[in-house]
Amino acid sequence: MPKKKVVLNFPPHLIDQPITYRLIMDYGLVVNILRARITPQEWGSMVLELGDGNGRLDEALAFLTELGVGVEPLSKEVRWHEERCIHCTACTGPCPTQALAVADPHTMTVSFDEERCIACELCLPVCPYQAVEILF
Ligand code: SF4
Ligand code: SF4
Repeated sequence: MPKKKVVLNFPPHLIDQPITYRLIMDYGLVVNILRARITPQEWGSMVLELGDGNGRLDEALAFLTELGVGVEPLSKEVRWHEERCIHCTACTGPCPTQALAVADPHTMTVSFDEERCIACELCLPVCPYQAVEILF
């Protein structure tokens, strides 16, 4: 089943809407909530992994956009600044998905795989050079 990770940004008036329920029931998506940060009366954000069981993902994303929900691919919202990285490997232990991992055991070079990242932020406090940035 094709999967896509997206960041949804909700304006305050949509925060109490049953949006994940609609994605499941109306569009047949498999919804995995990777992260949610929602404060009543304010903007909220949610990182979802969407499994497209019946080819209706584009339709579902259009529904969200029409509703006023901001939709961005997760890869656009998480940045690894390679030029800041000194390959200290401090982030590779806490990273639960190996998005940050030692790519070459001989040189101990760290690399970032944006497809694996779930924006959990566990790497942020351990990186001495703020090489990872979460933009939402
Ligand atoms: S935010 Fe950092 S620790 Fe979390 S999955 Fe992405 S790279 Fe790994
Ligand atoms: S903790 Fe920061 S500087 Fe160290 S390897 Fe990870 S991204 Fe690079």
